[in-house]
Amino acid sequence: MTSELAAILPSPGLPEPADLPFRKVSITDVRNLFTPPDEAIFHGQANDTFELLKAWAGSTLAFAIYWSRGNLFSQRFLTALVISAVVCGLAFILHELAHRIVARGYGAEAHFVANNGMLLLSIAIAFLGVFFAAPGAVWHRGYLTTRQGGLIALAGPATNLGLAVLFLIVLSVILIGGIAAPDWVLTLCAVGFRFNAWLGLFNMIPAGPFDGAKVLNWSPLVFGITVGIAIVLTFVLTDAALGSLLQWILGL
Ligand SMILES: [Zn+2]
Repeated sequence: MTSELAAILPSPGLPEPADLPFRKVSITDVRNLFTPPDEAIFHGQANDTFELLKAWAGSTLAFAIYWSRGNLFSQRFLTALVISAVVCGLAFILHELAHRIVARGYGAEAHFVANNGMLLLSIAIAFLGVFFAAPGAVWHRGYLTTRQGGLIALAGPATNLGLAVLFLIVLSVILIGGIAAPDWVLTLCAVGFRFNAWLGLFNMIPAGPFDGAKVLNWSPLVFGITVGIAIVLTFVLTDAALGSLLQWILGL
């Protein structure tokens, strides 16, 4: 099993309790993250495309609500929705597709199944100023070695770290090249960089259902290198550090 969890991000401010919708979602509606889905997914009854679209839409909505502080009728929400669809939705979907591609590449059966309860819960708590998403997981079965299992797990976080670097390169090219780009493009690149770096690091936690546990089990060296890259992207390349670096490059 390869399960996803996104980080709980700091609260931008709590709205009044009376303003909170979706309060009827109870914790009992949430499928246990450790419980495998019905065997039916391995008997021709899986619809991966629909499940992925659901996870994409749900996590996009949750992040946009969190980011616009639950104010659905603001211009900020529309901008947040567009940026979230590209940044947050894609970060999750490409992460999951990477697991599935590598698993199928090793001849395993693999399907993505969205976690409806967690998607609803993540949308509900986004109104509370908390972002937490576990949109679903790729489930696979078939004979796999520890190395193959480790590489299937690594594919997800590695995809997010790759996306983070890609967003950072685009952002740097725009700033260094003095290219006239609208503000939302700069925001998209900056958020895309931060979100993917954080998601990559978070999923490398070496415990429980996280990808990191399987990577560490296969190769402590690969685990260490991946976590090292993720820490540099997340904590060393702060906004201040990136600003100084760009200033220095521009001054050359
Ligand atoms: Zn994963």
